[in-house]
Amino acid sequence: MRDPLRDIGCGTTAPNIRVRSTYTGDLAPAGSAAEGPLRVIEWLLLLLPVAAASGWWAARRSDARRGSAGSSSDPAFFRGLNYLLDEQPDKAIDVFVKLAEVDGETAETHLALGSLFRRRGEVDRAIRIHQNLVSRPNLSKEQRGYALFELGQDYMRAGLFDRAESMFAELVELKLHRRRALEGLREIYQQEKDWTRCLEVAEQLQSLTGEPVRSETAQYHCELAEEALELGKRERALAHLCRAQKVDSHCVRATMLQAQMAVGQGDSRAAVMHYLRVAEQGPQFLPEILPDLLDAYRRSGREDELAELKRLYRDFPSPALVLLLADAIQAEEGDEAAIAFLVEYLSGYADLTSLERLLALYAPKLADDGRTRATFDAALTVVAHLRAHRPHHQCEHCGFVARRLHWQCPSCKQWESIKPVQPEPIGKHADAATSQRIT
Ligand SMILES: [Zn+2]
Repeated sequence: MRDPLRDIGCGTTAPNIRVRSTYTGDLAPAGSAAEGPLRVIEWLLLLLPVAAASGWWAARRSDARRGSAGSSSDPAFFRGLNYLLDEQPDKAIDVFVKLAEVDGETAETHLALGSLFRRRGEVDRAIRIHQNLVSRPNLSKEQRGYALFELGQDYMRAGLFDRAESMFAELVELKLHRRRALEGLREIYQQEKDWTRCLEVAEQLQSLTGEPVRSETAQYHCELAEEALELGKRERALAHLCRAQKVDSHCVRATMLQAQMAVGQGDSRAAVMHYLRVAEQGPQFLPEILPDLLDAYRRSGREDELAELKRLYRDFPSPALVLLLADAIQAEEGDEAAIAFLVEYLSGYADLTSLERLLALYAPKLADDGRTRATFDAALTVVAHLRAHRPHHQCEHCGFVARRLHWQCPSCKQWESIKPVQPEPIGKHADAATSQRIT
């Protein structure tokens, strides 16, 4: 049997050629503008394959009874067609599904129809069709597996997670479609924030596929560490963070949590060490920890703050660091030095935040005439507006824009894919970035 799930669930080819060839409308995803009540012609296109299968089955049954050449003349078949023409699709579905008793030859048609309904957002109808399939005793084990998976998908779409969980758990037990069933279970447990079960499923997935799931496993441990911290279970939290770093040595979140725990313990030196490690693991995350890093730095009794900021800037230039450094340079070396620093930085990065600071620093030096002042103020207003409306955080996987850091993207559900937006390199840095991409 061909793999209908691959065809209708994840691929581009419908399992039943008749469905594909007759249906020319949008196979729109949930929530798209194409969803909504179906027109009668769309109902016809969707249900005709089932009607055809029903008619064929009815004819075959009739032939068997009469022992003569027959046709799709079963009255129920025409009753179903009439329901379609009268725009009563639910009644038509009932007739056709009842008429075309599910067997090995019509199961694919039902699977295709159910999948199409779900894609159209008609989840109730998809559930009815797939429930009907699952309840049939004459399906092969493989066909039952497909039907269970589809029904699980329907329940997920309807938000009935407990029922979806039963479907996927049964598939795992039957050793059918285990990978997709385990991925379904993982999605459910993530939605329910059941991180312990997420870990169990991640382990099962890893042993099934042989592919490491390091990043997700580390994030589940971080979630459990945060839960433990909320309960005041410091040792348990530390144990989870150690395990997170053991499975994923690049896990920025685990290091950030270790730094926060050190701050909570009043151990500023350890906190500085952890925060500096964050800068090495993920320089893009530096804006997230910079104020805390400086605070821990001051508390640890170090006095060479400007030198430390300059060192950090050399290794990890970022807008938040540039602003702090500009302030420190202005305080220690004066306005001219701060302006020169910002001009140098802006020659390499198109950063609105730093440009706004540069303009503000330069404002007192303008010629004292109304026209110059008005021109400058207009430019400053535009820059401030653009800076205020730029995205702060963005998912590198799906492009979702967020105002704050999320460890799991609310849109595509990827872990650690949302990062602070970096300014585009220009001038010499753009050339370097281009040559890096080419090599
Ligand atoms: Zn995303």
